Amino acid sequence: MTLDYSNFEVWFITGAQLLYGGDAVVAVDGHSNTMVKGLNEAGHLPVKIVYKGTVNSSAEISEAFRKANADPKCVGVITWMHTFSPAKMWIHGLQDFKKPLLHLHTQFNKKIPWETIDMDFMNLNQSAHGDREFGHIVTRMRKNRKVVVGHWEDKDVHARIAVWMRVAVAWEDARNMKIVRFGDNMNNVAVTDGDKVEAEMRLGYHVDYFPIGDLVPFVQKVTEAEVDALVAVYEKEYTLAENARKGGKDHKQVREAARQEIGLRSFLESKGAKAFTTSFDELCGMDQLPGLACQRLMAEGYGFGAEGDWKTAALVRTMKVMAQGLPGGTSFMEDYTYHFKGKGSILQAHMLEVCPTIADAKPRLEVHPLGIGGKADPARLVFTAEAGEGVAATIVDMGNRFRLITNDVDVMTPDDNLPKLPVACALWTPRPNLAVGAAAWIYAGGTHHTSFSYALTDEYLEDYAEIAGIEKVSINQDTTISGFKKELRFNEVYYLLNKALQ
Ligand code: MN
Repeated sequence: MTLDYSNFEVWFITGAQLLYGGDAVVAVDGHSNTMVKGLNEAGHLPVKIVYKGTVNSSAEISEAFRKANADPKCVGVITWMHTFSPAKMWIHGLQDFKKPLLHLHTQFNKKIPWETIDMDFMNLNQSAHGDREFGHIVTRMRKNRKVVVGHWEDKDVHARIAVWMRVAVAWEDARNMKIVRFGDNMNNVAVTDGDKVEAEMRLGYHVDYFPIGDLVPFVQKVTEAEVDALVAVYEKEYTLAENARKGGKDHKQVREAARQEIGLRSFLESKGAKAFTTSFDELCGMDQLPGLACQRLMAEGYGFGAEGDWKTAALVRTMKVMAQGLPGGTSFMEDYTYHFKGKGSILQAHMLEVCPTIADAKPRLEVHPLGIGGKADPARLVFTAEAGEGVAATIVDMGNRFRLITNDVDVMTPDDNLPKLPVACALWTPRPNLAVGAAAWIYAGGTHHTSFSYALTDEYLEDYAEIAGIEKVSINQDTTISGFKKELRFNEVYYLLNKALQ
């Protein structure tokens, strides 16, 4: 379920004009080629940049953007104004352009050549004002974009472009994201529900309902030989508890879990789905609540949400695409219980479904009874998440818009083992501390389910919200409750007006 980033391109378009003569255009083109080559060869960018030449007129700009829209390999465009590029020329092209935009505010030379600088040099190297003219029209047109400032050879600049590239690929991935939902949302739950039509228009998510009865035949037709082969994989990758091993009294539950995993994978493949949700209310014909299957499919790159939570399932998928190949895992997660000690922390877990990519050690495969669901004892991977920094994110439906909420968190090692809680878990402190972090999250209307990642930072979600054109609020080291409440109130007005103007 991972994506091959090499299937995608980002296009680089340089703005100029013919005022300075043919020599200047040739120089602009040469510098642009050198820059794009340098950016690609630095080895910090996950997606290849393709230089598409200079544009010197409204017609050339419109044509470049039309081609970018139409090319399925192109996930976004980087623009840069080497010289002055009168921005009315950009209006029609920008009106048509539908993909992520990054404005790279850089210049060819790193330093001012004090001894030799003359007016010809100034006319050729004037990004400092050409890019402001371009920036003005993008802002005037209310077009969302990322602005990255710095010299094109600097690693910090590469890092910021790399973040945006990963988000652009995830955005492309979400444009046709089918989410399979077994059953509905958990009855009466508000926060996991929402407007699926608006979600498809705004975020690309397509949510399809299937009765679990449609999955059952896929599970039933799994052969014993297929189960044997997958159990052998479990034995290699995990430490099996005594009762879960071959000969153990609950080994048959592990075999049923393997059957579910194979059946579920083949069902999702048959539907072309990238994410899915389950529900403990929707288990008719199933042996046990699929725990192990959900954990392992998440580790493969599928998005997952429990209790019908399709928004979180989609966000988990999107964050997994952004994080692909980076160190540190990404998982569905749920806030459970508080630990009021020091800055305060939250025990994160779920009944079963936490992704093993965040484990601090080899997971244990265990079988235990589960009170909810009324089925056989489910198999699950049990582990503790590694200590480290991460980001938790959620999308909520505010009725007139989607709001993306993020919180920077510090995962720590629990004080003690949890011998009577045989599930995967993480203990984290939300920044700046539990009192402010949890209060801000609640004021923002945040869910109890999140998508959590060690691999990503808030910048990824910021870029995602900018591309999607949805509200984004961040809870971090600098958050104060009074400032955060003001931001929510200002946003309320902004989005009401914004909606009215659309
Ligand atoms: Mn839940």
